[in-house]
Amino acid sequence: MLNAKLKEIQTSLEEKISHITGLSQLEQIRIFYLGKKGELTLLRKQIKDVLEEERPKAGQMINDVCKKVEHYLEEKKLFLLNKEREERLKNEILDVTLPAKRKQLGHQHPNQKILEEVEQFFLSIGYEIIEGPEVEYDYYNFEALNIPADHPAKDEQDTFYISDQIVLRTQTSPVQIRTMEKGRLPIRMIAPGRVFRSDEVDATHSPSFHQIEGLVVDKGITFADLKGTLIAFSQMLFGSDTQVKFRPHHFQFTEPSAEVDVSCFRCKGKGCKLCKGSGWIEILGCGMVHPNVLRACHIDPDEYSGFAFGVGLERIALLKYEIEDMRLFYENDMRFLKQF
Ligand SMILES: [Zn+2]
Repeated sequence: MLNAKLKEIQTSLEEKISHITGLSQLEQIRIFYLGKKGELTLLRKQIKDVLEEERPKAGQMINDVCKKVEHYLEEKKLFLLNKEREERLKNEILDVTLPAKRKQLGHQHPNQKILEEVEQFFLSIGYEIIEGPEVEYDYYNFEALNIPADHPAKDEQDTFYISDQIVLRTQTSPVQIRTMEKGRLPIRMIAPGRVFRSDEVDATHSPSFHQIEGLVVDKGITFADLKGTLIAFSQMLFGSDTQVKFRPHHFQFTEPSAEVDVSCFRCKGKGCKLCKGSGWIEILGCGMVHPNVLRACHIDPDEYSGFAFGVGLERIALLKYEIEDMRLFYENDMRFLKQF
């Protein structure tokens, strides 16, 4: 009777184990046979019903089957663990012969490249680099620069007003005033930075762009110093064979004032699309600091004189790299930036 029951248990165990696919099922089988109410546990409890002399043998038989169950379960467990490990390794396989992903290297923005060239040039001839606020008082942006209240540049079409007295600076020139006001002379400085005008966006205009302002104030500064400096600067930018022309112009904060043209670096002055056939390209505005501006900064114009210039960073970059649309500068398209 007991014999038959044990045989049946062994057969059903083998059958059950052969269908197992996961470790959690193993535990269910262990509980089914060896748990508190497991089949073998119940059999062991029934031993007391067997004749006394047969009890040791019956106990032995049950123990043997219990051991067998444990052995089977252990074997299956090792098998399943191995299988799981092999599958994991198969998934984690690394093919070292596959081509690597190319890393995208960053590129300098054309504006930044030009800015660094300009800064390097002026640092090498003893200038300082000075920065000023982008949100500026009307006084520094206009009034101290000899721009009266009724000047068209103050028209709301050009200037972003934050309040009656505060604007987004329309030029980097207020940094000149802030520097002169400190009263430390002589001054040799450039002030690069972002400026704002309420312009419509198109190929050559943007409501926000960059300027580099230059200012020299010392005793005995003449227009010859201005010319020498800007000729050297233009030739640094566009090549040593560049011709430079100073055209009379008008700015409120300089007197006399001039615009600077360079000979077209593409056609060498013969006339092409870049220079619109004229052979010359306008690159910046400049002049001798107006006595009124010096006075506003408590500098005696009879003792000191100076020159100033302002150049558009984007304008130089557009020309130098022959880019036709300024909007490309602000789109951060990698296909564009990669070229620099
Ligand atoms: Zn040309």
